[in-house]
Amino acid sequence: MINFTVGPVQSSDAVRAIGAEQVPYFRTAEFSELMLENERLVKKFAHTTDDSRVVFMTCSGSGGMETAIMNCLNKNDKALVVNGGSFGERFVELLTLHEIPFTEIKLEHGKALKPEHLAPYEEQGYTAFLLQKHETSTGVHYDIDMVADFCKRNGCFLIVDTISSFLCDPFDMTATGAGVMITGSQKALACAPGIAVMALAPSALKRIDENKCCCQYLDLKLALKNMERGQTPWTPAVGILRQINVRLKEIDAMGGDEAEIERCAELARYFRNKLIELDLPFEIVSESLSNAVTPLHPTTQSAFEIFLKIKDEYGMWICPNGGDMKDTIFRVGHIGYLQKEDYDTLIKAFLDLRDKKFI
Ligand SMILES: *Cc1c(COP(=O)(O)O)cnc(C)c1O
Repeated sequence: MINFTVGPVQSSDAVRAIGAEQVPYFRTAEFSELMLENERLVKKFAHTTDDSRVVFMTCSGSGGMETAIMNCLNKNDKALVVNGGSFGERFVELLTLHEIPFTEIKLEHGKALKPEHLAPYEEQGYTAFLLQKHETSTGVHYDIDMVADFCKRNGCFLIVDTISSFLCDPFDMTATGAGVMITGSQKALACAPGIAVMALAPSALKRIDENKCCCQYLDLKLALKNMERGQTPWTPAVGILRQINVRLKEIDAMGGDEAEIERCAELARYFRNKLIELDLPFEIVSESLSNAVTPLHPTTQSAFEIFLKIKDEYGMWICPNGGDMKDTIFRVGHIGYLQKEDYDTLIKAFLDLRDKKFI
């Protein structure tokens, strides 16, 4: 199977080899050192300030989103949240559950975030801003610089979900002034699922220190205290943290975050150009594309039927959509261990389906 989804994605051979090894005992100086190296490399690739910190939580990306809200926000906040798809909706649900006052900026699927969406909220006393940098469900990549400027003008604490954009679209945590950046192990990090990576700026560390977190397992005070010596309060997903270490060093050796972002961008361009060149019956439906994924509306067949056909008859996974996008949109990812030849194979399958009048 070739995997063109947006996570879990394909891993490099070195990362897979770690997955085959015995999981070692972890309360050791060696494991602590590996964790501190992971922290150093995440800080480097996320362009954090020196005094920022990184924690690795054993949960999926959504656990990182909830951890950020529970530790950094409280009932005295007044938050703005962008909801342009399933992941924005998840932030809305979490803010509701944790009783954080908020206003939702709801966007039509596929639409970019524009200055007029933010204008009504200038100088209205908002204290926090939450958004996906890339809303993976619809494939819309938001203008983070515009949001960062809004947050600086209005004194908003910025929480950015970069789960599907870290290492495939540029992100500079220092330049944006973001308080929290969240990512997951199974997206562009291309490891097994199970770890949420969180970079925390000093503004976040202050909020965490002053806040009460009503969950022991996800309490960042405990995570930060332990991480001072490269450890975690509880048994972490040790095997995945070792995969992350191999992967971060691999990226570093290949030219760092910039080279990795360019690699994804090149795959995305290659695939998108082929679609146009061959006039396939798919429309790109996002106003603002990320390098992570191409969201497509098939004009002649149900998107979900195409997903099933490609999976069952051609041995490849493209990424289906859920809910009301199930029949109208499928996505083709550009993250993980993929090559141009893999796209040639996928395009060949699409052409075959066109010859057979399936699409
Ligand atoms: C995948 C994803 C999530 C959720 O991550 P899980 O690991 O499935 O919990 C959240 N936000 C974005 C933008 C994502 O792409």
